[in-house]
Amino acid sequence: MFAPEFDYYKASSVSEAIQLLGSHDGAKLIAGGHSLIPLLKLRLTRPTALIDIGGIADLKGITVNNGTVRIGALATHWDIASSHDVNDACSMLAEVAGGIGDPHVRNRGTIGGNVVHADPASDWPAVLTALNARFLIQGPGESARTASPSEFFGTPFEPNLFPNEVLTAVEVPSLAANQRTEYAKVAHPASSYAVVGGAVVVTMDGDRCTAASIALGGLVPAPVRASSVERALIGQTLSVENIMAACDQVANDLGEDVIGDIYASAEYRRAMAAVEIRHALFHITGQAHHGSRAEMSVPPSNV
Ligand SMILES: Cc1cc2nc3c(=O)[nH]c(=O)nc-3n(C[C@H](O)[C@H](O)[C@H](O)COP(=O)(O)OP(=O)(O)OC[C@H]3O[C@@H](n4cnc5c(N)ncnc54)[C@H](O)[C@@H]3O)c2cc1C
Repeated sequence: MFAPEFDYYKASSVSEAIQLLGSHDGAKLIAGGHSLIPLLKLRLTRPTALIDIGGIADLKGITVNNGTVRIGALATHWDIASSHDVNDACSMLAEVAGGIGDPHVRNRGTIGGNVVHADPASDWPAVLTALNARFLIQGPGESARTASPSEFFGTPFEPNLFPNEVLTAVEVPSLAANQRTEYAKVAHPASSYAVVGGAVVVTMDGDRCTAASIALGGLVPAPVRASSVERALIGQTLSVENIMAACDQVANDLGEDVIGDIYASAEYRRAMAAVEIRHALFHITGQAHHGSRAEMSVPPSNV
């Protein structure tokens, strides 16, 4: 199907994009177009104008400085996956980017477009939640603000962003030497979108876990922290038994809004939430794929 008609503008700076947004009611930004163009073709959105931000140099680039990875909103998944700086500072970012979609999606899709589209099935929302990212947002004039993941994500497909604001960058703290990370997902076989995704960051003192940040996506309208699991892990050694017991707590964190759809039932997704974070933790501790009880207790897929 063809997209509905719209006017087209190409912005050469963030301030020009904001000014164009302000002067065209119902306008939308377009970056790589990988989420927006399908919506246009399905007539699920009818913007009056598209403002192309794809050429704005200030929104590109990745830097690592003073313990912070700063990823410009226009960085593509490929830019992130192939950056040695990112890999050195926070390998989970590079690993997740490399597992998104297919080469075409990774080459055109941007991290900014991904998080602003705020699809519950996207990988970045859960991963950036576990990593305690900050979203850098520019509004009209000098107005700028930052938002935490819980402030930014809320309703599916509607992040907390005003119509005349531009997401300029995402900042993630570099990992400390004693932090370990892993992201595990049940990937949709056709698209790689997360049917369920679990992002795990643990801080270790020897073999004892001293802090944990775990977030789930794919199965709930907005990413959720698995606070019960985090609490159960802190102070423990990451033995198979302790991981199993902690991950069983995840049901307490999912609430009532687990998504059931044509890809997977809510019941399946609830069951897989525990499996995926267990899987991530077993990868971190080197206990994955050893035929452990946990590896074998995966419910049958109805995906
Ligand atoms: C076949 C396929 C498979 C995919 N698989 C995965 C997957 O496995 N995992 C996953 O996480 N994602 C997946 N995706 C989604 C993909 O990651 C996103 O479509 C892409 O990253 C969106 O970025 P974009 O630059 O194309 O955004 P666009 O489509 O250009 O924009 C998306 C939305 O964000 C807004 N926007 C864009 N940039 C900004 C900005 N800087 N400030 C404010 N608003 C902005 C636009 O107005 C629009 O509303 C897949 C997509 C496809 C088509």
